[in-house]
Amino acid sequence: MITFIEHDDYYKHKMPQILESPRRLKVIIKAINECKILDQPDVKTVSPEPIKETDLYTIHSDQLVDIVKHGSMVGLTAITGDTITNEHTFKAALRAAGGAKLAGEIALKQPNNVAYALTRPPGHHATRTNAMGFCFFNNISYAANYLIKEKKVKRIAIIDYDNHYGNGTADLFYDRNDVLTISLHSDPHVSFPYQGRPTEIGEREGEGYNICIPLPVQIGDREYLQAFDKIVPTVIRDYKPELILVSAGYDGLKDDPYGYLSLSVYGFQAIAERINDLAKEVCEGKIAHTLEGGYKFDELGNAFLASISPFVKNYTFDKDISKKLTSSGNKTQLKETLVEIKRVLKPYWRID
Ligand SMILES: [Zn+2]
Repeated sequence: MITFIEHDDYYKHKMPQILESPRRLKVIIKAINECKILDQPDVKTVSPEPIKETDLYTIHSDQLVDIVKHGSMVGLTAITGDTITNEHTFKAALRAAGGAKLAGEIALKQPNNVAYALTRPPGHHATRTNAMGFCFFNNISYAANYLIKEKKVKRIAIIDYDNHYGNGTADLFYDRNDVLTISLHSDPHVSFPYQGRPTEIGEREGEGYNICIPLPVQIGDREYLQAFDKIVPTVIRDYKPELILVSAGYDGLKDDPYGYLSLSVYGFQAIAERINDLAKEVCEGKIAHTLEGGYKFDELGNAFLASISPFVKNYTFDKDISKKLTSSGNKTQLKETLVEIKRVLKPYWRID
């Protein structure tokens, strides 16, 4: 069972000259329509309500909320060079947080419920106090915090497979252990937001609960999956979340203008299969996705379909991906990175 969360407001926020645009959603919706999965009884679409302005204070500073609200009232306002409001942004952002929240609520409701919030603007770079990297408010973090505070969920794991480190999500839960944050991202030496090194593990109660898996540039599918398999399943099994939230970004695709990971569309199917298997094992298959980045328009639709393939009963994006997964052969740097990650995480998790 998969539920897509959509709304017209998500198309209204636009930034001049920036690829984080409504076209992204159009490409994804076209792909969904073309493969006809909406005809299936286990696939649904629903509309979310916006959250209230005051709800944002549960994760963001008053100043950030004011800056985005007033910027949007004025119209075109650059909060940062690449994070720019128009007159619809504030409303869209409130509904984007509402979309992520609804995705979480749907997933929580019963076993094997999977939801996917097709939201814009994205959120995973927004910290408590700062909008950045096309993100105004942190949708997935709003949802995680809401589910813990209001729905009494005790442990949530967030897996972020966007090309870029989910620095905002990490910031918001850096001193908490009720939300485990795992980000796989391209090398912070070359890739925005230039953070996300293995040693960034969280602090105080959150120490050990922020997992950074920075990957060498142009890593390719097989090496990416090797890194995933070495770290993520062990940590998720140890942590036993009640629900897995996913920051789903597609800018890891080969030749994405903002990405460095060189993944193929089949790589996204393999990642989703792994997340699905883990969720079935530890949290009754409950998964809620929130859309983050992805800017390679001619492959975004296929990467999206590949990433939902395991969650739709009578649909498989590709029946035999094993021969199609790419490889960079870049073993040495990856090996060094994995040794470093394991060394850092060993005190906290049963990693061998
Ligand atoms: Zn990204």
